[in-house]
Amino acid sequence: MSRLNEKVALVTGASKGIGAGIARRLARDGAKVVVNYAASAREAQSVVAEITDAGGRAIATRADVRIKAEVDALIASAIAEFGRLDILVNNAGRYQFAKVEESTEALYRQQFDLNVLAPLLVTGAAVPFLKQGASIINISSFVTRILPSESAIYSGTKGAIDAITGVLSRELGPRGIRVNAVNPGLIETDGTHANGVMGSDFRAWNEQQTPLGRIGQVEDIASIVSFLACDDAGWVTGECIVGSGGMR
Ligand code: NAP
Repeated sequence: MSRLNEKVALVTGASKGIGAGIARRLARDGAKVVVNYAASAREAQSVVAEITDAGGRAIATRADVRIKAEVDALIASAIAEFGRLDILVNNAGRYQFAKVEESTEALYRQQFDLNVLAPLLVTGAAVPFLKQGASIINISSFVTRILPSESAIYSGTKGAIDAITGVLSRELGPRGIRVNAVNPGLIETDGTHANGVMGSDFRAWNEQQTPLGRIGQVEDIASIVSFLACDDAGWVTGECIVGSGGMR
């Protein structure tokens, strides 16, 4: 018997990168998975196809998680398809470093709206359906530990997520709902390829500074999320678990 059998998971931003890796891993561990996406329908369908080809169950659901009406429809579609919700992974996020004098209102709103407002909206809409034993996992970042220069907005969003994780662990703990964060180090994803980080000095610096001698892959983060989602983590809440190969 797989450790997430009978559980239903929603992963936001699961068409690509870390979210897609988490969706695949939770399905492999027995969960039925709602693969959320905003724009990349083809990629989301291909994650669903991988899961169903392997004998699992998944659906792809479009919703811009910054918009409350779309979030409400996303949660409704999860309940309509699978009848319950046990695991919520708030993963959708964006990152753009900028010097403070170039940190515009637009950059602030793009990152705070997706990285902070959206997890609050999705969690708020999901909570009425979460029962004793449910698990919420927020994807934060190791930037809240290493505080890289020129990351004030992005690190600000993830610092907020670390704080929100602690607050909600207290608020939802009495209802048997656990809330944790995973703080990845640099991970090779569609996003880090698209923004040029993969070929950059920042990647080389990360490799040099990481005790385990490499940057991360999506599977490195998905396995931590799967643990936090399962009942073996039943005494773990309010934690921010750094997955960075030892870099801090
Ligand atoms: P990515 O490859 O760029 O993928 C981002 C995902 O978010 C895509 O599936 C995208 O879907 C979705 N998304 C974007 N806007 C959305 C919206 N408004 N509503 C719903 N979904 C939306 O990103 P990643 O590198 O995997 O990062 C994922 C998370 O990990 C983020 O929270 C990031 O901050 C965090 N993180 C990443 C790293 C890293 O090194 N990669 C390190 C630490 C933390 P569409 O294409 O369909 O819009």
